[in-house]
Amino acid sequence: MRLILLGPPGAGKGTQAQRLVEKYHIVQLSTGDMLRAAVAAGTPVGLKAKEIMARGELVPDEVVVAIIADRIEKPDARNGFILDGFPRTVPQAEALDRLLRERGLRLDAAVELKVDEAILLGRVERRVAEMKARGEAARADDNPESLKKRLEAYRAQTAPLVRFYADQGLLRSVDGMASIDEVTAAIGRVLSEGASRAPTAS
Ligand code: ADP
Repeated sequence: MRLILLGPPGAGKGTQAQRLVEKYHIVQLSTGDMLRAAVAAGTPVGLKAKEIMARGELVPDEVVVAIIADRIEKPDARNGFILDGFPRTVPQAEALDRLLRERGLRLDAAVELKVDEAILLGRVERRVAEMKARGEAARADDNPESLKKRLEAYRAQTAPLVRFYADQGLLRSVDGMASIDEVTAAIGRVLSEGASRAPTAS
């Protein structure tokens, strides 16, 4: 099983990815987590990405494509993977198509979590407040200004992927405003419907 999770920041991609990992015994590949690890470790990629990420902008395509190209080669990804936060631009999606084609692999589905943006800001603000109350450091980009940038980047650069995958017949949209369990159940349903369905309009 090879899946993509699409949705704006705070949509619940990470939460659902973890559940899919258990259900399908595949690995979760989160470019955000990998980049944050690179920043923490101070690697050349991390140094390059640090300020860009803090501002809520996207790191260059070639950086994340190289990371993913390496990562899907690892033995633990042989069984399948769920991409969380990648691709985020049309050129990244095209690069992914090439990477998979070269290896004789294909995607099973691109799952879109549809959410109301007005509620996302509240979700992230609440998470930051809770972390602060516990004395934990918030993510450098979990502030209202960077979140606004992240949403803008999503709208301008990532949302076009909904059409991109609909055109390939791979798009499966679910209501991301329902409870965590309900969203998980809805994803299970759309995935069991199979990938041969006609493209959905959206
Ligand atoms: P969220 O989905 O909450 O915005 P992520 O953890 O997926 O958070 O990503 C955090 C940041 O990492 C992004 O705002 C961006 O700067 C960088 N990033 C992650 N994945 C990509 C990607 N595929 N392309 C470009 N930048 C990325």
